[in-house]
Amino acid sequence: MIRRKYKYFPMVISAPSGGGKTVVRSGLLKLDKRFAFSVTCTTRPKRPGEIDGKDYYFVTVEQFKRMLREGLLLEWAKVHGNYYGTPVKSVVEVLGKGRIPVMTIDVKGARAVKKIFPEAITVFLLPPDLKTLVQRLERRGEAPENVAVRLETARSEIKVASRFDYLVINDKLRETIREVAAIAELETRKTGRNLDKVKAFGNQLLKRKSL
Ligand code: 5GP
Repeated sequence: MIRRKYKYFPMVISAPSGGGKTVVRSGLLKLDKRFAFSVTCTTRPKRPGEIDGKDYYFVTVEQFKRMLREGLLLEWAKVHGNYYGTPVKSVVEVLGKGRIPVMTIDVKGARAVKKIFPEAITVFLLPPDLKTLVQRLERRGEAPENVAVRLETARSEIKVASRFDYLVINDKLRETIREVAAIAELETRKTGRNLDKVKAFGNQLLKRKSL
C-alpha cells in the first residue's frame, strides 16, 4: 500500500470497451489542468491515429514481461488477448506534481489500484444502452468478431460495477465529463482529505488565545 502523501488521488475510470472512457479522459484533461493522463503500456497493435507515449506505450510481449518481472507495473491485465499494464512511475509522477492521474483501465485493474492506493476514486461508465455500445464499437472500426468478444467481456465487467465508488451513465459526452469532474471536485472536499487545513486553523486559534 502506498501511504497518502500527495495533494490529490488517482482517479480510475472503467467501462466496457467502447463505453467512452478514452474520450471522457481527454475531455477531463481539457476541462481542468488538475487532471493528467498517466500513460499505460500495451502489447496490442497501434490503432490508426494513436501515438506511442501519448495514448499508450506500445511494447513487445518480451518488454512487457520484463517490466512485470522487475516490479515496474502497478497492475496489469490480459484483455482480449493482449497485455496491458500501468507503470507505477507514471502514476506516482503525476501525483508528485500535485495533479490527479486519470487512469482508464479495466475492472480488475481498478481493483488492484484501489488496493495499493486506497484513496483512489473509481468511476464506472455505463453506456445508455446496448445499441449505443454496439454502434460505438462499430464506428470505431472494430471487426464483428472483436465486437462480439468485447460484448462478452462487458457481461462480466458490469457484474462488478457495484464495487465502484461512482456510476455515471455516458449518454451525452459533455454532461458525462462534467459529472466525472464534479465527482473529483467533491472528493477533494472530503473531510478526511482536509484535516491538515482544520489543524492549521486550529493552531491559529490556539495562538490567538495565547496572545
Ligand atoms: P483498448 O485496447 O480498447 O484500448 O483497451 C482494452 C481494455 O484494456 C480497456 O478496457 C482498457 O481500459 C484496458 N486497459 C488499458 N490500459 C490498461 C492498463 O494499464 N491496465 C489494465 N488493467 N487495463 C487497461
